[in-house]
Amino acid sequence: MGLIRAVPSFRRPIARLEAVIGAKRFAGLLSAAGEFRAGFVGRTIWNVNSTAVGGGVAEMLQVLVGYVDDLGIAIRRLVIHGDADFFSITKRVHNGIHGHGDATGLGAAEADHYSRVLAANAVELLDRVQPGDIVLLHDPQTAGLAAPLVDAGALVLWRCHIGADSANEVTEAAWAFLRPHLTEAYGWVFSRRAYVPAWMSPEQVWIIAPSIDPFAAKNQELDRGSVRAILATIGVVDDPGGAGGPGRFLRLDGHTGHVERPAVVIADDLPGPRDELLVQVSRWDRLKDMDGVLRGFAEHVAADRTSHLALVGPSVANVADDPEGAAVYGECLLQWRALPPAVRSRTLLVTLPLDDVDENAAMVNALQRHASIVMQKSLAEGFGLTVAEAMWKGRPVIGSAVGGINDQIAPGTGVLLPDPTDLPAFGASVRALLLDPELRARMGAAAHAHVRANFVGDLHLLRYAEAFATLIAGR
Ligand code: UDP
Repeated sequence: MGLIRAVPSFRRPIARLEAVIGAKRFAGLLSAAGEFRAGFVGRTIWNVNSTAVGGGVAEMLQVLVGYVDDLGIAIRRLVIHGDADFFSITKRVHNGIHGHGDATGLGAAEADHYSRVLAANAVELLDRVQPGDIVLLHDPQTAGLAAPLVDAGALVLWRCHIGADSANEVTEAAWAFLRPHLTEAYGWVFSRRAYVPAWMSPEQVWIIAPSIDPFAAKNQELDRGSVRAILATIGVVDDPGGAGGPGRFLRLDGHTGHVERPAVVIADDLPGPRDELLVQVSRWDRLKDMDGVLRGFAEHVAADRTSHLALVGPSVANVADDPEGAAVYGECLLQWRALPPAVRSRTLLVTLPLDDVDENAAMVNALQRHASIVMQKSLAEGFGLTVAEAMWKGRPVIGSAVGGINDQIAPGTGVLLPDPTDLPAFGASVRALLLDPELRARMGAAAHAHVRANFVGDLHLLRYAEAFATLIAGR
């Protein structure tokens, strides 16, 4: 078996976007795509990342690749292979770029292992990529592929989905680790200007905000019956009336799917269908601060209100490029066990099966739609797709004022927490929103409109088309 894996993508009818973005924006997209196509004959766009499922990058790629395919532009997805040591090194780099962890300890042995794993992947990649093709390498795991691809005549952009609001010793160490690999790339793409390291020349940098897809299983409309059925099936809500119905959703391939798998739910008691439910959906990553949400709820919300809290993440068994997941989940579990019984009985730890990506997405969709408030109390965040996802569903979101969350929550469209470690302030904003259903509804409506105007995929594709066209013109 080879190292590089092709990820099948499903063509997504781009025409559906017109109903969401309006005729004018849609016409602009088609015209830009036509122009791009004309200059791109005989070439392919390759997206390379480190996991087919799990996390925001995989989430976005499956959608965008499907749309580009429908626009008649050749595009493919590949996933690299690495061993446990490789992913533990890249996780340290990842955390380091966010300004956390022990990237300062990365030395020659780590650099050597990182390079060797990617050199092996590059050999196989070069069997597929042709001179003149565009290769979009995603995140630290793939940076070491830039040089061999450039040598082979590919036009290589490195797309960084993460970053820190300000530099420190740790971010410097992580960038120093990647820099020798990145200098070969023709350009770099970031989600925010603040994330760009000082040594990158500005004319090679593009700022492109991530996006959500209104038709993905994650974000598509779900009727009330499906939401109830999904929540009952996965075991998050005690709703005998909901369990009988079909938890239906539309798959990426256009077929109807049903949510059939249960989640693993750690709970003494389940909320009923009418109980207020606070939700944070995240990978089990320290920087998402699931344990801070748990503590904040236990210490500053639970006593005043009857609401419940669900911390929701992917099953810790399957996310291959995230070695910390199981440990972070384990810590939350210990913390949950130590809660006073009265609080514990209103707190759920939920891990969602990843066996079927669309089914997993439909579960997240139902949870976000059902939530009274969605939280994203991250300590650092590249962009934070979960915020746009919840805003799209008209949910009031409480998010930390870190990284890309700042770009998403505009005044009136949600609540920004200036200091995510300030648990009393977090609790106060949760309580204030719970007390004011009208404010929640207003905020949710404004949130939906804001995402439509700024974070739907057409804008994302247009920015890429500009970047690629510049790249092709320059070579
Ligand atoms: N997600 C998911 N299932 C889960 C947990 C998370 O599908 O059990 C998704 C979530 O809905 C979002 C993505 O994973 O689309 C996480 O992206 P985000 O930008 O919020 O954070 P990242 O994981 O990239 O740091």
